[in-house]
Amino acid sequence: MRRKLAAGNWKMNGDASLLGELAQLAGQQSDTGPEILICPPHTLLAHAVSVTDGSPVGIGGQDCHAAETGAHTGDVSAPMIAATGAQAVIVGHSERRTDHHETNADVRAKVKAAWAAGLTAILCIGESEDERMGDSTLEIIADQLHASAPDGTTGDNTVIAYEPIWAIGTGRVPTLEQIIETHDMLRDELVGRFGPEAMTIRLLYGGSVKPNNAADIFTADNVDGALVGGASLAAADFQPIIDALAAS
Ligand code: PEP
Repeated sequence: MRRKLAAGNWKMNGDASLLGELAQLAGQQSDTGPEILICPPHTLLAHAVSVTDGSPVGIGGQDCHAAETGAHTGDVSAPMIAATGAQAVIVGHSERRTDHHETNADVRAKVKAAWAAGLTAILCIGESEDERMGDSTLEIIADQLHASAPDGTTGDNTVIAYEPIWAIGTGRVPTLEQIIETHDMLRDELVGRFGPEAMTIRLLYGGSVKPNNAADIFTADNVDGALVGGASLAAADFQPIIDALAAS
């Protein structure tokens, strides 16, 4: 019912040479596999769109400003991202929430800006290590979900990525039971708020997904794919994750 999605977040990594990895990845996909999305830095968006043209690999941005245009030096708007041919944008990544002090209200405005530009919003939420240790994970991420996801969220315009902050880039991952618990809770919250249609909203797990742990994570019913950082930078690392998702 929900098409699986393997999304890669290159973060502030990548130059023209990395586009060779992207070309390789694009060339080795079939039309029947999971949906694949790569989010390079904004400077590479147009190049990445052209390298993947005609392939099943889509391209997304990593953030957008909430406004369409204006006096916001250094920022990039959702229509600008869409104009490159990209189809999605990550919003609310924990690195943005921390480095740029983005609040749930800021993130909600960015989701709406993404929709207005015709982009799918990849909306990230996740708890800190202290919150996990304090046993407040479910409460924290449910609050983030409701405060960041606007009314009108659907499976067509939004993907939710659950990314425990303590698992991002650390090599640590929650137990499968913890992943099942959070994703099942998020599904219930989505259906409770948006109705049965919310069964079509994809829920990605993110945080140190690697070729050696992906298959286990993808056994969870409400894990519809992954948002992958480090392991999305090389086709040789990302492909086994895509294959594990296809086989799940
Ligand atoms: C991320 O950047 O969203 C991420 C999950 O990174 P990593 O896979 O490297 O932990």
